[in-house]
Amino acid sequence: MANQISAIRGMNDIYGDQANAFDYLINSAERVLQQYGYNSIRLPIVEKTELFARSIGEVTDIVEKEMYTFADRNDDSLTLRPEGTAGCVRAVVQNGLVHNQVQKLYYTGPMFRYERPQKGRYRQFHQFGVEVFGLASADIDAELIILTARLWEQLGLDGLELQINSLGSQQARAEYRDILVAYLAQFEDQLDEDSKRRLHSNPLRILDSKNPEMKTIVEQAPKLIDHLDEESKQHFEQVKAYLQDIGIDYVVNPNLVRGLDYYNRTVFEWVTTELGAQGTVCAGGRYDGLVEQIGGKSTPAVGFAMGIERLVALLMDKQLVGAQQQADLYIVTVGETTSRPGMVIGEMLRDALPELNVQMNCGGGSFKSQFKKADKSGARFAIVLGEEEVNQQQAQVKPLREDAEQETIAWSDLTAFLTGKFAS
Ligand code: ATP
Ligand code: MG
Repeated sequence: MANQISAIRGMNDIYGDQANAFDYLINSAERVLQQYGYNSIRLPIVEKTELFARSIGEVTDIVEKEMYTFADRNDDSLTLRPEGTAGCVRAVVQNGLVHNQVQKLYYTGPMFRYERPQKGRYRQFHQFGVEVFGLASADIDAELIILTARLWEQLGLDGLELQINSLGSQQARAEYRDILVAYLAQFEDQLDEDSKRRLHSNPLRILDSKNPEMKTIVEQAPKLIDHLDEESKQHFEQVKAYLQDIGIDYVVNPNLVRGLDYYNRTVFEWVTTELGAQGTVCAGGRYDGLVEQIGGKSTPAVGFAMGIERLVALLMDKQLVGAQQQADLYIVTVGETTSRPGMVIGEMLRDALPELNVQMNCGGGSFKSQFKKADKSGARFAIVLGEEEVNQQQAQVKPLREDAEQETIAWSDLTAFLTGKFAS
C-alpha cells in the first residue's frame, strides 16, 4: 500500500453530525435572510492580494501574517480570501451594483487564515456573511443585529451576549488616536512586541490585543466612545433605541474595535462564554469608507460575518441539532426479480410523500442483513418485497418501531396506506 496523504493542518474534513449541523445552520440563516428580503451573492475564493492589503489594512494581523498569498503561473500575486467583505465590495463596484441603489446581500463559504490551529480557530474556516450597501441610517445597523437575534432564537441558542460600540467618524478617530498614543507611550516598555510596533502605525489595534499581559493597560486606556463626533453619537443612540424597542439586550464594550481597519461608527459582536477563548460567533459593523477605498463611488455600507464552525460547535454541545438523517421507510428487496419494482416503488412513494425520507436497500443481501440495515436506518416501516410479493403486486409493510402486525398491501394501495400511517 502506498503511504497515506493527510489533510493540511488546520483544514478540516467535515462529515457526519457536524456536516448535518453545518447544513442546518446555513439553511436556517438563508431562510432568515430571505425573510428580510436579502439576496444571495456568490464570490471567488481567490482575489488579487492588493484587494486585501488595501481594504483590511496593511498593519493588521491578517495582512501582516495570516494570508495565504502565492504567485500564480503568470506571476501575479493572488491570495485565498481571509474574509468576505473585501471581495463583496469589489464585486458590487465592478458590476455596477451600487449606482443609486441599495443592495442587501448574503454569502457563505470558506475563508483562509494562517493562524495557530486550536479549538474554534482553523486555517480554513467558514463564514456566513451579510453586507448592505447604500444605506447610511441607523435603522439598517439595527436590522442586521435584530435579524441575527432572530436566527439565534430560531436555533434555540440562548446565552449569547451582544456587545456593541461606536468607532465614530474617521476624523473623530484620528483625534482620538493622538490621545491614545500619548497614553500608551507612557507604558512603552511594558508593551508587547506587536503593540510596540503598532504604537505609531496602528495604535487602535492595541486595544484589540489578545495578550492577557496587555489587559490592564488596555482597560485603563482613554475610550474612543468618550471622543465621538456629534453625528456618530446620535447614530449610536438610535441603534440602541431600536434594540431596546425590540427587546434585545446589549452591553456597550468601549474596547471593541474589531481586527480590521475599515470599520467606522457601529461595531458589534455576539459572544459566548461556552466555547473557551474563541467566544465570538458573529462580528461586524459599519464601513462607510471602504467602497471608495476600493475604487467605487462613496457608498455607505454595513455588514457582519458569522463563524460557522463556532456556531456549529455550540449547536452540537447544546444538542440542538439532530443526528444523521433518519429514514422513515426502508425498502427491503430479496430475490432476482424484486430490485427493479423496489426502485419503482421508492420513486412512487417519494412522489406521493415528499416529506418522508425513503431509503432503498441498494447492494442486495439476505433478509436478515437487510433488516439489520433497516433497523439501523431509524425507519418506522420496512417495505418488503420478495418474489412472491412481486408476483402478487403486493408488499409487506413491517412496523419496526411499534408493536403491531406486519400487513400485506397491494402496490396500488400503498401510498394511501402509508399516508394514513404517517398522518397519525
Ligand atoms: P477573532 O477575534 O476570534 O480572531 P476576528 O475578529 O479575527 O476573530 P472576523 O474577521 O471578524 O474575526 O471574522 C468573523 C467571525 O469569523 C469571527 O467572529 C469568528 O466567529 C470567525 N472566525 C474568524 N477567524 C476564524 C478562524 N481562524 N477559525 C474559525 N473561525 C474564525
Ligand atoms: Mg482573528
